[in-house]
Amino acid sequence: MLKASGGAVPVHENPGPVLLVEDNPLNQKVASVLLERLGLIVEIAENGRLAVEAVGKKKYAVILMDCHMPEMDGFEATVEIRRLEAQQGHYTPIIAVTALAMAGDRERCIAAGMDDYLSKPIDRELLEAKLRRWLSSQVVYNSQKHTQKFLRSNSSLRVLESDPVNLEELEAFYGAEVLKQMMAIFINDTEDMLSRIETQRNERNVRAVAGLAHELKASAASIGAKQLARLSLYIEQAAGQQDWIEVAETLASFHRSFEYFKNFVQPVVEADQANLSSTILN
Ligand code: MN
Repeated sequence: MLKASGGAVPVHENPGPVLLVEDNPLNQKVASVLLERLGLIVEIAENGRLAVEAVGKKKYAVILMDCHMPEMDGFEATVEIRRLEAQQGHYTPIIAVTALAMAGDRERCIAAGMDDYLSKPIDRELLEAKLRRWLSSQVVYNSQKHTQKFLRSNSSLRVLESDPVNLEELEAFYGAEVLKQMMAIFINDTEDMLSRIETQRNERNVRAVAGLAHELKASAASIGAKQLARLSLYIEQAAGQQDWIEVAETLASFHRSFEYFKNFVQPVVEADQANLSSTILN
């Protein structure tokens, strides 16, 4: 540690500004007040894309990163920031902030290149402890070395996740026609389920939203659509906590991920009709 311990505020004498990446105005307010009371100067970016732009222009002492945001989420933004910094030869500690205190979420944060993790609502003392740790230059130096190793060993950093579903594996197991039917049914059911979740969310019906998200998780898992299954689980958990903001944001992530999924499986779903019917008739 650079500073002698003693619990004195500010957490660090002259750390430079903190970048708070958060789309929700209330959360922005709460976190900025906490950070300012710790003697820090706060700048706000409303989504991941704006955060990447900000990091391109200025050095920050630390970044607090919300995971679920419109336009570009915290995971994508972190990958972009780490790539940018690799060119700049610079490193900023990134602390993820999310409502979902789950083991899987933490792994996803670390895999994207974040250094640490805080649950919402932010606990003031925990925030202070983490900031003290990450504003220490020795900790940052060690983390930077670790990340450089990570960057060297990952040539395909662009790919945050693997393919949304393993079509080769499914086709080998089920055959082309059944796979085509399965994908069509899954897409249809998911669209139906999403509109039901939307209705129940508007009614603030915890049990219905959690129940539907649970079903969605099971159907996504059954075809090995891991990202969709995981997002369904987040929706289920957020509904259970009655965190409707997080439900809405995670639903938005699900929609984006589902669009990507549909594009990915489109060649299978729209496979040659003539060939398929002749195969079925045979
Ligand atoms: Mn958010």
